[in-house]
Amino acid sequence: MNIYDVLIIGGGPAGLTAAIYTSRAKFKTLILEKMIVGGQVTTTHEVENYPGFAEPINGFLLMDNFQRQAKRLGTEIITGVEVKSISMSQDIFEINSNKDTFYSRALIIASGARYKKLGIKGESQYIGRGVSYCATCDGAFFRNMEVAVIGGGNSALEEAIFLTKFVSKVYIIHRRGEFRADKIVQERVSQNSKIELLLNSVPLEIKGGNVVEKIVIQNKISGDMRDINVSGVFVFIGLDPNTEFIDPSFIESKDGYLIVDSECKTNRNGCFAAGDAVHKSLRQIATAVGDGAVAANSVKNYLEKLGI
Ligand SMILES: Cc1cc2nc3c(=O)[nH]c(=O)nc-3n(C[C@H](O)[C@H](O)[C@H](O)COP(=O)(O)OP(=O)(O)OC[C@H]3O[C@@H](n4cnc5c(N)ncnc54)[C@H](O)[C@@H]3O)c2cc1C
Repeated sequence: MNIYDVLIIGGGPAGLTAAIYTSRAKFKTLILEKMIVGGQVTTTHEVENYPGFAEPINGFLLMDNFQRQAKRLGTEIITGVEVKSISMSQDIFEINSNKDTFYSRALIIASGARYKKLGIKGESQYIGRGVSYCATCDGAFFRNMEVAVIGGGNSALEEAIFLTKFVSKVYIIHRRGEFRADKIVQERVSQNSKIELLLNSVPLEIKGGNVVEKIVIQNKISGDMRDINVSGVFVFIGLDPNTEFIDPSFIESKDGYLIVDSECKTNRNGCFAAGDAVHKSLRQIATAVGDGAVAANSVKNYLEKLGI
């Protein structure tokens, strides 16, 4: 049986940081990643608030650096492996995936989060035909067209600004009368002549033929409904944790987010969690990286106690 010292589920900023630390401490480290390495950051064109870069850096390039650093230090990374369940027997974790079963002495869950869906009529039907959750990936398909962005946080407003590089107009549809986004981002939105705000409004339905043609919205104050003609609908309304593969009786969670202490320890001995999958107040690259380092240090203490 090939037993890793530490197995990390998820190759985003949290998982890669943890791997950099555990590999550098010479622990045999494996990352399992179901998609491409880099996590959510790879879907954003520009990261402006991650310290150490005086100029904005492309999300994909940033994560490529994380990955190359981890590999240089000895981390093994396997992509295309989706973890399906975890269990433990005699201090060894058994990690079952869509491919093989893996074994490790310590486990770090860094499986992050994913975009929430609107759950309205037409949304699923038009995914890939006008409905998108990634402006970086799909923005260029909407050159000189009009699109809607749904949401009011940093991601929604930043992605709306990015979309104005391609499209002729962006409607930002937000259910509240004010945004949650940082003031600096709000200022940029208000200075952008291609952006029109539709506040206190909720989307009801996405309509079209073969592709998206309009979105139906309702003003929450007046109750008025109206159709907005758009070719694209970009949804940025928050996140759901990627923790479905974890039995809640095995690791404690709240609303799906894993509960950890200040050392990133879960309630299960030898199992640690880091990043967006954790129950916490700020989900950003900087906090994911911080968690990853703390979790790795806790792994080190745990393995040393086991005499490894
Ligand atoms: C559009 C967008 C823009 C953003 N912009 C910024 C920004 O400018 N600045 C900033 O600080 N933050 C930004 N964020 C937030 C930031 O990306 C996240 O906080 C950060 O990526 C969290 O890192 P993580 O490693 O915890 O999780 P993730 O990045 O979500 O990575 C988790 C990884 O785990 C993998 N995974 C999940 N389940 C499994 C499984 N069962 N088996 C195997 N692998 C699995 C996923 O495929 C993923 O690669 C942005 C997010 C988005 C969506």
